[in-house]
Amino acid sequence: MVGAAAVIAAALVLPALPSFGRFVVTAPAEFWIMASLALVVDVPLFGRGRQSEVWVRPTASPGLAIAILLVWGAAPGYLVQAAAAVVSAWGQPQGWLGGTFLVSRLVCALAAAEFAHRLVTPEPITSRGGGLTNEDLLPFLTLATTWFLVSYGLLLLVGATVWRGGLRGAAVRVRGELLRSLAQVLLVAPLLTVFTGWWDVLVALPMLIWNERTRDYLRSEERSRHEPVTGLLNHEGLQARLDELALYDPLRPYGVRPIGVVFVNVDATLVIGRSLGWDTHEKVIRAAARRLTDTFGPDRVGRLTSGGFVVLVPGLTEVDALAAATTAAQALQPAIVVDDIPFAADPVAGVALSPEHGRDFDVLAFRSQLAAGEARRAHQLAQVYVKQSQDEADRRIALLAGLRMALLDPRRHNEISVVYQPQVELATRRLVGAEALVRWTHPDWGPVAPGELLDAVEASEVMPLLTRHMLDRVVAQSRAWYEQGRPLRVAVNVSMHDLNDVVLPALISDTLHRYGLPPSCLAIEVTERLLVLDSARVLQTAEKIQQIGVALSLDDFGTGYASIQQLQLLPLAEVKIDKSYVQGLVHDKAKAAIVRSVHDLATALGMTVVAEGVEDAATASALARLPGVIGQGWHLGRPVPAAVFDEQWHRQSPGPT
Ligand code: C2E
Ligand code: CA
Ligand code: CA
Repeated sequence: MVGAAAVIAAALVLPALPSFGRFVVTAPAEFWIMASLALVVDVPLFGRGRQSEVWVRPTASPGLAIAILLVWGAAPGYLVQAAAAVVSAWGQPQGWLGGTFLVSRLVCALAAAEFAHRLVTPEPITSRGGGLTNEDLLPFLTLATTWFLVSYGLLLLVGATVWRGGLRGAAVRVRGELLRSLAQVLLVAPLLTVFTGWWDVLVALPMLIWNERTRDYLRSEERSRHEPVTGLLNHEGLQARLDELALYDPLRPYGVRPIGVVFVNVDATLVIGRSLGWDTHEKVIRAAARRLTDTFGPDRVGRLTSGGFVVLVPGLTEVDALAAATTAAQALQPAIVVDDIPFAADPVAGVALSPEHGRDFDVLAFRSQLAAGEARRAHQLAQVYVKQSQDEADRRIALLAGLRMALLDPRRHNEISVVYQPQVELATRRLVGAEALVRWTHPDWGPVAPGELLDAVEASEVMPLLTRHMLDRVVAQSRAWYEQGRPLRVAVNVSMHDLNDVVLPALISDTLHRYGLPPSCLAIEVTERLLVLDSARVLQTAEKIQQIGVALSLDDFGTGYASIQQLQLLPLAEVKIDKSYVQGLVHDKAKAAIVRSVHDLATALGMTVVAEGVEDAATASALARLPGVIGQGWHLGRPVPAAVFDEQWHRQSPGPT
């Protein structure tokens, strides 16, 4: 379409060159004034009129070109129009394609209008030496109508094929420019035909102002597509940029080249905001943004949620896509230094491709986030989206719905069971407690892996239901052991979600009362990974739990971002060192040193220390050298149902809790 219009326009302009050459040597001053105005009127006065629309471009030249055509004939008209359109298209983003179309479209419209005019006019104005009379009205209206039909017909045809929303959508998008063109052709053109010479400058002035206003509007629209903290594209801006890049799809000679939507997850920076204030967080985010724009260019980088950047990378293959995502993550890997403090952004990236994985920005952004999540789980820097991630998302939703039904229906409670894993003081091998872990066996799917289940449930509304159920089951079991004269401290896991809920302490004390269990026979584990340290609500909940007399234990220590000093903020009775530090500590001096120093600090602060994931005798005996340390792991005992736990442990007498 664009190609055909360009060929026709060239066929019109090139033959006009010789006669234009002859005209130019004798051209009057009035012509030069008008021609210069046509060239100047579209020059962006105050900065580049950054317009994101490729096809519709504001131009004020048609009015002047039509006037020139009426007064001096076709050849000067075509050439001035072509030259003015080139000026108007100059320096616009993606100029060559939109520019070519603008020039071709305006020249074709002018030529068609001239042809129609010649059909109905007895005597052209050119030969009469200016001025308009009543007889000129019909020919002029014919000219104007033809101009609109051809000019806007072309625009709508091209628009309907490349824009979403077809002809209707295209009509909406060209509405603004149509009003400008009406004024240009019906008002400016006849006025300038009558008033030639310096009068033109007076007429051109309002046009210049109008042009600038349109550009202002476009500029402010452009601003609304950026995000204030970093100046990067926001959601809307990214969407628009992706649509623009996709516009080239039908034009590419070798079919569609995928566009990569890369999502870089820097959730770790959220912790900075929570613990050091949002000012510092903003500085870190700005520095991170600069690194990405330095690598990919400002037009390609955006920011979605407070913890995620998006980079648009056109022209990719699947292999390049992974490389691009890796580059993005790598750019943020070196620590970001703000106020002399180095911060780790801990980036992972995921990438989804248009059109392979979707055309809609929201779909692609969601899928690239899924891929980033996969990368995080697999301990990789970046991953390309695979359909499977979507299947996994579907499966997660199914799991969630299934567990919710099972929890709400007492007849299905037998599907959900609790296993208990012993916690042993390593120096004495004395049983000091147990951790309760959920198990769910679905009637059709069989046993559901607890890690996968909890991943799905974590941030959902099902979490409080699960916590309530677990508390009830575990307190009942702990009461049974207590009654049998074998009191044992049993730990229940709660999520961040629960700790944010002020009703949790009341729920705990109610359950304890209902079963008549002393609070020392219950502990609550909360994982460090998800802990928000300075939330007043969390602190309040934690303090209330402590006041009840239930021990609060920090799970998975070392996987999050808190330091022991920060942990002092919470009323903690216990720290559980994550298994990643415990496993391999026998051969890894750094791990051994970390475990030792955490143990020293925690005991100095009056907390007990539990080492998780003790899988062999060597680890157990290495740890046993640390005074008072408690171990939990397969070497000491697997998680088992209460009855099995009884058999294995309660034949041996537990110590006081
Ligand atoms: P967690 O709290 O860190 O629980 C310890 C996990 O480590 C358990 O996995 C346990 O089976 C496993 N484990 C125990 N000893 C060893 C060992 O020596 N080596 C290794 N490699 N693993 C060991 P499980 O039962 O699959 O639970 C996974 C996670 O699910 C738990 O991690 C906990 O965060 C969560 N979870 C389990 N039950 C509940 C629950 O009732 N409520 C909540 N909120 N979360 C739960
Ligand atoms: Ca736990
Ligand atoms: Ca743990």
